[in-house]
Amino acid sequence: MFDVRNLRKEYGGFIAVDDVTFSLPERGSLAIVGESGSGKTTTARMIAGLETPSGGHVVVAGDERRPGRLSSRERLARGRQIQMVFQDPYSSLDRRQRVCDAVAEAVGLHRRLRTDQLRARVDELFDMVGMDHRQARSMPKELSGGQRQRVAIARALAAEPRALIMDEAIAALDVSIQAQILGLLAQIRAETGTALLFITHDLGAVRHICDDVLVMRAGRVVESGPVTTVLDDPQDPYTQRLIASIPKPGWKPRRRASEAAAV
Ligand code: ADP
Ligand code: MG
Repeated sequence: MFDVRNLRKEYGGFIAVDDVTFSLPERGSLAIVGESGSGKTTTARMIAGLETPSGGHVVVAGDERRPGRLSSRERLARGRQIQMVFQDPYSSLDRRQRVCDAVAEAVGLHRRLRTDQLRARVDELFDMVGMDHRQARSMPKELSGGQRQRVAIARALAAEPRALIMDEAIAALDVSIQAQILGLLAQIRAETGTALLFITHDLGAVRHICDDVLVMRAGRVVESGPVTTVLDDPQDPYTQRLIASIPKPGWKPRRRASEAAAV
């Protein structure tokens, strides 16, 4: 769906992203993992057009993205290619607007519909993210973090994008809610064919919903390939450490002798 080639971002002499090359295939799913500060968000923002690369290329659906000011029509056309969902949906929602109106607004940007058609499309989008009519008519503050993230996904899908970028979008949620959203994403991808770039710390989630994975460290790609290959048989020492540092399911911290004595 898109290719990045030798992508680079420099902030006043500091190189945040350095010579990053990879592709997200049409309908594909790729995870980016790596410690905090490794350049994952900067890479995603350049792909989404929110940040101008210092070097390299972003090619979306065969068209190279040129930096510079865009007309609103061009910006909308780009929105139909790639949409991004962030960690904190609260910050991107208008606190005084019902969430159904926020989604309707997003649909209206991309499609000229009669009121009844618009309402039907909004219902369909809330359906896709597993929210009912009452929840759709809520204000953002009346919803849980997981529900707000569902709204953010519905709003992103309003553009019918060919690719969705999720940047640590479920990291702040409870584990059980994370699992629900992952299930939802898998279902949406099966229905719509939307490609997914999934940025996360959670290697379990990567196994669950991604075909391929890219490991970043200090702005560079250290390893990439199919999820099963990279996670089961990591070649790079950094990937090996990253995998080793993640507690296995069922792992419990060992209680220190002093704590045991106090019980
Ligand atoms: P990640 O998402 O992997 O945690 P980021 O892409 O957010 O990493 O950041 C990569 C590096 O670039 C970090 O060291 C960060 O401090 C730096 N950085 C990110 N954005 C800016 C900016 N606007 N100005 C200066 N440095 C930045
Ligand atoms: Mg980040």
